[in-house]
Amino acid sequence: MDVRRSLPAVDALLAHPHVREARGSYGQRLVRRAVRQTLDETRRMLAQPAAPASPDLDSLATRVLSRLAELARPASRAVFNLTGTVIHTNLGRSPLAEAAIEAMTQAARHPVALEYDLDSGGRGDRDRLVEGLLCELTGAEAATVVNNNAGAVLLALGALGAGREALISRGELIEIGGAFRMPDIMAAAGCRLREVGATNRTHARDFEGAVGEHTGLIVKAHTSNYAITGFTCSVPETRLAEIAHAHGIPFLVDLGSGALVDFTALGLPYEAQPGDAIGAGADVVTFSGDKLLGGPQAGIIVGRREAIARIKRHPLKRALRLDKLTLAALEATLRLYRDSDAPQRDIPTLALLARSEDAIAATGERLLPHVQRLLPDIEVTLEPCLSQLGSGSLPVDRLPSRALAWRPKDSQRRLRERRLRRLEAALRDLPRPVIGRLSEGALRLDLRCLSGADEEAAFLDQLKALPRRYATSEASHRADEEASAPGIGRESRRTDEPARAVAASDTSGGAP
Ligand SMILES: *Cc1c(COP(=O)(O)O)cnc(C)c1O
Repeated sequence: MDVRRSLPAVDALLAHPHVREARGSYGQRLVRRAVRQTLDETRRMLAQPAAPASPDLDSLATRVLSRLAELARPASRAVFNLTGTVIHTNLGRSPLAEAAIEAMTQAARHPVALEYDLDSGGRGDRDRLVEGLLCELTGAEAATVVNNNAGAVLLALGALGAGREALISRGELIEIGGAFRMPDIMAAAGCRLREVGATNRTHARDFEGAVGEHTGLIVKAHTSNYAITGFTCSVPETRLAEIAHAHGIPFLVDLGSGALVDFTALGLPYEAQPGDAIGAGADVVTFSGDKLLGGPQAGIIVGRREAIARIKRHPLKRALRLDKLTLAALEATLRLYRDSDAPQRDIPTLALLARSEDAIAATGERLLPHVQRLLPDIEVTLEPCLSQLGSGSLPVDRLPSRALAWRPKDSQRRLRERRLRRLEAALRDLPRPVIGRLSEGALRLDLRCLSGADEEAAFLDQLKALPRRYATSEASHRADEEASAPGIGRESRRTDEPARAVAASDTSGGAP
């Protein structure tokens, strides 16, 4: 007899009281979809050799409910970034300031005067929403904004140097991760790359010797995700600006992060500010909106009036333009830099970076007794650790912090590693996934980015679900192992790996 025949009809499962009740919160359409998928999946399972007996109506209804929860869960979800990398590219970089969130919500809900001049009633320019603020904050004459800093660099190179040579020091041919490599961007922009000097040392005379009638511009790139130390020499910006201007060509600085406040005043390592490069004579400076600035993803271009005007006329400018939501968030963030008495309090990225070790330790002390009780086979301690800024900002600097370190108690190494991987998976499986960092036999949750009473409470509250998730992942793993003799278990174990690879690649801080 075919056991698949004994499965109930769609309508019978839809009529189960729990499934019927779910229609109220999920809606008819989604419930029907979940029922179909559950029945299809069960049918496939039952078709396998040595399949178990066909499940009863109640257990099918339970499967429908868990599938519903899965179907209703958005792919874009809030997570806890406890990786120790504050500006984590794979986790969306900077959380926004409340003022920026509010501005974005307003712009999302209503029509806004985006390219409309409210004084004259005529057509306006969307850059005007932020240009004045950017000029005030950097000392530049003009500004424009695009989708991200990679786009800003591409656009600036294309507008100022297409068909001509772009000079850059050999020590600055950066790769920022993904496909952003300076030589490739230059090629895409139509510039001919001309490398100057040597990897560790480039002198002013190297640039003077290289500049000629085919030179379109001189470029300086902030070596944001690595540091060259030892016997080194690079040419100061003021000198590069002089050389460029003596030949009537522009000088472009790709700053990468670009802090708008003095980081040393916040007790943080020094970070170059766009205003410094402008002051040194740069014609164009580009930087990111969502790195150290702590705003939305954007590429900011500031500089001299003529250079910015050329950039704005380039067709790529239209292709890379910002939408009203991002502009609203960017304007609100920039206003905080100009108007707030304490930007380091109002801009979350700055607040997290400047958060004191004592405050982080206090969070740890409050959490520790709760998390220690959760899993009997795993020991949790509070340990010193070092956070990094991330996204290629200040690559060698580390900020003292505290982590909850989870270590399995088993004596066998293989068992410990297995438990750690299951623990990591269980944390990722929580309603708001918790992302930590696996290293040296422990899973560490750096508490720097768990800041504020609400966040602490939300973190603790959902940890109640951890023991069950951990047990389920243990059980499913054991089932995998038992089935692994013919090679089935391997397949299911591999599903964990992409996620781990993501976390690992990002803690290097070099991702774009
Ligand atoms: C991060 C970075 C970029 C790319 O900026 P995105 O905003 O990620 O597009 C370009 N140049 C430097 C030096 C950077 O650090």
